[in-house]
Amino acid sequence: MFKVANHSLFAHPLPQGHRFPMLKYELIPSQLCHEGILCYNDFFQPELVDEKWILKAHDMVYWTKLKELSLTPLEVRRIGFPLSDQLVERECRIAQGTIQGAVSALEDKVAFNIAGGTHHAGRDWGEGFCLLNDQAIAAYYLLENRLAKRIVIIDLDVHQGNGTAQIFENEPQVFTFSMHAAANFPFRKEISDKDIGLPLATSDREYLGILEENLEYLFHEIKPDFVFYQAGVDVLSSDKLGKLDLSLEACKSRDALVLNYCKRHQVPVQISMGGGYSADIKIIVEAHCNTYRLAKDMFY
Ligand SMILES: [Zn+2]
Repeated sequence: MFKVANHSLFAHPLPQGHRFPMLKYELIPSQLCHEGILCYNDFFQPELVDEKWILKAHDMVYWTKLKELSLTPLEVRRIGFPLSDQLVERECRIAQGTIQGAVSALEDKVAFNIAGGTHHAGRDWGEGFCLLNDQAIAAYYLLENRLAKRIVIIDLDVHQGNGTAQIFENEPQVFTFSMHAAANFPFRKEISDKDIGLPLATSDREYLGILEENLEYLFHEIKPDFVFYQAGVDVLSSDKLGKLDLSLEACKSRDALVLNYCKRHQVPVQISMGGGYSADIKIIVEAHCNTYRLAKDMFY
């Protein structure tokens, strides 16, 4: 069975009033175990990531300010959470969870992080609830340990993976692909190796057509030997921060397309959850759980 990194077994890092975006991390494992998709043994509690891997993706000055909690008020505001040691520790566990997941995916074909997909964190900044870029850190881990040579990061969160794009702008072994709502945060975009900025209210059919065309390109032209998938569910029409018009079914078809390409081309995939801000938390949990259900159906 595939492995799932779960940091949420540790103390909650945020004060009341800031917890809503994190509630899903407790609900998703419960739902999946309740349905019998996973059992508690499939989850692991990640350790803290070694600083050496953080520093492959992030700049020393930024990391030092982050861990010493000495970012300026403006830099903290850009992150959007009140900073604390526990919050930084949480990010360090999430990054390690993505590393361990990526390594386990080499054997198990697929692995998940219950959180992560913190794609707005760039080399020297945190932004939009993202402090450290977990998939970027794990990509460097694979490259440095010669566990992968050609990585594609497929970022289908509704927001551009600006941090990921910037971190890998000069890294030929990592190809960054971001498909997002064009007129949405971040308003100053970075340049991914391939960006698809979708118009407002893109529908199911259009979305899935464009995605399939691009997956064809990625798997036949770029030919990855490892994929990181950022499976944000803020593409749903119900999402408060979304601006696309996807149904729950189309969101599931999106995941099925990505997983199918990985399976058919025998490319291991690590999946981080990314965003999801529908007012009804049931929809968020359902959409994320669909990704796990599909992986179990397809790979196990
Ligand atoms: Zn997002």
